[in-house]
Amino acid sequence: MNLDKILEYQKIDQEIYRLELDLFRSKEAARINNVKSQLGNVEAALLRLNKETEDLFRAIEGFEREISAAFPDKSITDGVNTLEKIETAEQALNACLENLSNIEKESKKIFDRLNSISKEASKQYDTGMYLSGELRKAKEEYGALYNKIKTENKDNFARLNELNADIDPALMARYKTIRDNRKMPAIVAYVNGNCSACGIDISIEVGEKLKNPGDIAECPSCRRLVYHK
Ligand SMILES: [Zn+2]
Repeated sequence: MNLDKILEYQKIDQEIYRLELDLFRSKEAARINNVKSQLGNVEAALLRLNKETEDLFRAIEGFEREISAAFPDKSITDGVNTLEKIETAEQALNACLENLSNIEKESKKIFDRLNSISKEASKQYDTGMYLSGELRKAKEEYGALYNKIKTENKDNFARLNELNADIDPALMARYKTIRDNRKMPAIVAYVNGNCSACGIDISIEVGEKLKNPGDIAECPSCRRLVYHK
């Protein structure tokens, strides 16, 4: 296979690849990641508050059941005609009142907590809105930097397009996969039985496939494409 076009493509593409890495490491990209991670924290906090609210409402439902269970049977005062029976009825009523007072205390705690959750959620929401604005700004800055790189290298991009049209799509797809895996250069020479990228002797595994100029094989070690010069 004639590899001139893909090798020329790769030569230009390596320059673009370096610029891409610079772009990923730019302060603009860092800012986007930073804001995104803060937004992630806000989202997690809101989910936590939402979950807690659900649990508290479930607890309130439990109180409703406890309150109805706390009331003594109406028959408690039926036929109370001895001191002993009066005392028993009183004890039952006192127990009921104590129960209700505990439930009241517990519900007050829950309502206080719901109140502070609501305040906290509203604060988190405001932060989230602010961060969304920051993210938009950060993306605009990043976009401007990206466009600047595009404009400055428009001749290179145009040449890549031209070359792409003349390169076997299957070969290009393999190249792109290796590039996506951040292994550049993706196509390297086979030199003295070694892959010239990772330096491993691959003559036993793929030597047979690399007999003539233009032959290519996959390096079993680093998965790049290795070619016979
Ligand atoms: Zn290799």
